[in-house]
Amino acid sequence: MNIEPIHPGLFTQPDDPRGAGLCAGRCDRCGDLHFPATPDCPYCGSAGCREEIVGRTGVLHVGTVVTAPPPGYIGEVPYGFGLVDLPEGLRVVSVVAETDPARLYSGMPLRIGRLILTTADGSSRASWQYEPVEASS
Ligand SMILES: [Zn+2]
Repeated sequence: MNIEPIHPGLFTQPDDPRGAGLCAGRCDRCGDLHFPATPDCPYCGSAGCREEIVGRTGVLHVGTVVTAPPPGYIGEVPYGFGLVDLPEGLRVVSVVAETDPARLYSGMPLRIGRLILTTADGSSRASWQYEPVEASS
């Protein structure tokens, strides 16, 4: 079931025909990828970038566990957080579904999963997170 995303055009959900992933943009001119996708290339400035789903898997570059809620954050703590290297060559900031800092390590294999957030009015929104490959989803 699709849940309304936190922002349109950032990611695809598991029931998307393309599968769950991040919506990157690939430039037709220079070939570089960027995330989030934009119509114009942030590297060479040319128009005409195509959306490409990336990041179905990833590898943790560096991670930590957030134990104090950032200002305005109403979700649960602790939560894992880190830089994730995607096989397509991008590095993204993401929630990581591991709250034990001793279990986070550089090179940790991850796969994308869905994160359900509750807003201030009690409704649900979908986002993404990276989950340890060993975990069941
Ligand atoms: Zn370009």
